[in-house]
Amino acid sequence: MNLFEYQGKRLYQDFSIPTPKSIFVSDISKISDDHGLTYPIVVKAQVQVGGRGKAGGIKVAKDFDELIKFSDEILGMDIKSHIVESLLLEEASNILEEYYISFTLDRSEKSYLMMLSAKGGMDIEEVAEKNPDDLIMLHISPSKGLDSKTINKSIKDAKLNKSYQDELCDVISKLYKLFVEGDCDLVEVNPLAITDHGVSALDSKVSLDMNAIYRHENFKDFENEIPIPVSEQFAKEKNLNFIKLEGSVGIIGNGAGLVMSTLDVVSEHGGMAANFLDIGGGAKAETVTAALEVLESEDNVKSVLINIFGGITRCDLVANGIVEATKGKELKWPIIVRLDGTNSKEGLSILEKNTNEKITISSSMDEAAKLAVEGAI
Ligand code: GDP
Ligand code: MN
Repeated sequence: MNLFEYQGKRLYQDFSIPTPKSIFVSDISKISDDHGLTYPIVVKAQVQVGGRGKAGGIKVAKDFDELIKFSDEILGMDIKSHIVESLLLEEASNILEEYYISFTLDRSEKSYLMMLSAKGGMDIEEVAEKNPDDLIMLHISPSKGLDSKTINKSIKDAKLNKSYQDELCDVISKLYKLFVEGDCDLVEVNPLAITDHGVSALDSKVSLDMNAIYRHENFKDFENEIPIPVSEQFAKEKNLNFIKLEGSVGIIGNGAGLVMSTLDVVSEHGGMAANFLDIGGGAKAETVTAALEVLESEDNVKSVLINIFGGITRCDLVANGIVEATKGKELKWPIIVRLDGTNSKEGLSILEKNTNEKITISSSMDEAAKLAVEGAI
């Protein structure tokens, strides 16, 4: 489960990781000037997406008037399809240097992976691509752990500022402790900054391993604080496995594996999926109707790809669902349907008998994905 920045920073505090003093707000009218923070204050949009700074979701306020003005501007802002519903107000830091650090799992190596770079504050994927030598990758055996000698070597290899060696080593070992003892799948700090007050974790991206919920009381609290998108809530009620993504090609498929590969084929054709939606095995007409209803409520969907491989699922029932949901309707977007497997002949003939100018039938997954990507432009 991915946490918001303010939640990750609460974990930093639990593990004594230095981070600026801050307060979390969702209703700015409740803030008065006796908030206890010292100006300048950074107003930060709380959305689970990177690049908030560039998108205008981070502003530095020099006084109370600006604090209110910027908060008003940022609340409600749409950052890459994420609506800002809350803010973190944080004492601004005087940044001297910006580093990058993360801890994650490397499943193929059966170990943890630490990544460290002196080139923080920017997109780390870009650093990895253009200057791979500037990114230190260190595999850590979970049974051996991470000692200060190894940390100090990495600090040196990554060419971080030597004058802060001890402090950096201390903070890195605490971040590792949070990653392991806090049962995290990811702890990423970008930037981990050198400020005029010393080392400070200015941003947080933390993901929790929910399999460990039984040993962390705070996991449930974090979960309750994270708003579930209306579409995900609706999908849950209809027993659909739906996850919102950021692209424009709506996806409906049966079986997690098939849906995952559909996402891949869409991206191979240069598109991006708007969602993951698995209608499961044995889907009936009403399941398909509900799935299309979920996508209708999503503004970012520009075309829909229905990819069904009938096993337990009968293609004729899926076809009936498509017809029921679309009959006589002016559709918002083109739908590309690929039906194969159990009763696909019957399914295809149902669709052919009930033509809708926005629905195209395709005989291959590859062609269907291509058409869906073109339809989304
Ligand atoms: P992101 O854009 O979503 O990754 O948000 P960050 O929290 O990483 O902030 C982006 C950038 O804003 C940082 O890399 C800094 O350059 C700048 N920034 C964030 N907090 C502060 C601060 O307290 N003081 C100053 N001067 N810059 C800040
Ligand atoms: Mn950041």
